[in-house]
Amino acid sequence: MTDVFGDLVGQDEAVAMLRRAAASAAALLRTPVTVPAGGHDDLDALAEEYDGDPAPAPADPGAGMTHAWIFTGPPGSGRSVAARAFAAALECVHGTGCGSCPGCHTTLTGTHADVRLVVPEGLSIGVNEMRALVLRAASAPSGGRWQIVIIEDADRLTEAAGNALLKAIEEPPPRTVFLLCAPSTHPDDISVTIRSRCRVVPLRQPPPAAVAEVLVRRDGIAPDVAEWAAAAAQGHVGRARRLARDPEARQRRDAVLAVPRRLTGVGAAFDAASALIEAAEAEAAASVAEIDEAERTALQTALGAGGTGRGAAGAMRGAAGQLKDLEKRQKSRATRAQRDALDRALVDLAGFYRDAIVMALRAPVAPVHTDTASLAGAGAQKWDAEGSLRRLEAVLECRAAIEANVKPRIAVEAMMLALWRG
Ligand SMILES: [Zn+2]
Repeated sequence: MTDVFGDLVGQDEAVAMLRRAAASAAALLRTPVTVPAGGHDDLDALAEEYDGDPAPAPADPGAGMTHAWIFTGPPGSGRSVAARAFAAALECVHGTGCGSCPGCHTTLTGTHADVRLVVPEGLSIGVNEMRALVLRAASAPSGGRWQIVIIEDADRLTEAAGNALLKAIEEPPPRTVFLLCAPSTHPDDISVTIRSRCRVVPLRQPPPAAVAEVLVRRDGIAPDVAEWAAAAAQGHVGRARRLARDPEARQRRDAVLAVPRRLTGVGAAFDAASALIEAAEAEAAASVAEIDEAERTALQTALGAGGTGRGAAGAMRGAAGQLKDLEKRQKSRATRAQRDALDRALVDLAGFYRDAIVMALRAPVAPVHTDTASLAGAGAQKWDAEGSLRRLEAVLECRAAIEANVKPRIAVEAMMLALWRG
């Protein structure tokens, strides 16, 4: 039986840091007085004790508990997995994240009363959502441990929402912990002022061997399939699992990796662009359909619960507004799902040209796509290292253009032409 940190792949340093913090947090809860003996930098009470002077620095900042954290790392490195595991360790009745007590279990399954998870619904997290969240987070934890707010993709906070969050982080309620997830601590991702109040937990891209190991151990995937999927997913754990298990995901990837050999002329380049865009749209539609259904069910359950009591009329009026909100969120999410699907395809394509460069240079590193290694080898002969590099750059420029809000079809068409011309 592994504990709550068992699903964090290849993140030994981060896990050690979080274990220390959880132990420190558990010690803090056991401290009978309101002001702890020191070693905790989260309590404004300390600052007041010292008559306006700043709180003394803890002897070992890495070992202590604090009230605000940022989990950073590339997509798929497990930012939200780490945040959830840490939340479970904080709510664990043993204070360790044992993985089997009610505190751990309810946190990991998303039913703990004191743990709130914010998953971005669309392209950004709005101020109203954040204000409501901050308000609820200020109440005393019902389980007697911690109130925890996990914000996935904190880089998608609107500026106003960021300010609402900052206020809460600056004046934290004594038992409230904020866990933010973001790609990096770059000011584009997270404001400097929020960053300055948080401790950073950097996650790295897990090595393929570690990803393959967890696919075999946890998901029961055959070792050879796990190894192939881990390499093809380039360190993205969720993507590796999907490739290993979902035949449709494999087909979509095959179609993307067939692009380089289909580029035989201008017409073919435009056809390939259309195919890529349409595949992304289809993938997005499939992924959104699943979430939408779960969400509709949840909303129906919530509305059903209010439908028979004294507040039934009010609940019905509220229902119309909630349905409208839901539609709005779902539209915004569909846009984002399309962008994400397209980005995954571009990452696969970039991996192909990366393999071609590696082969042209005869570099002693493993290919990303073992199953198209011979095609990449043929490309390497035809284009040489420089031609392969120009093509890789065209893919990366396309990603950057879409990130900068260029219409995806226009960016992808430009890329396909560049890939064809070299
Ligand atoms: Zn536990």
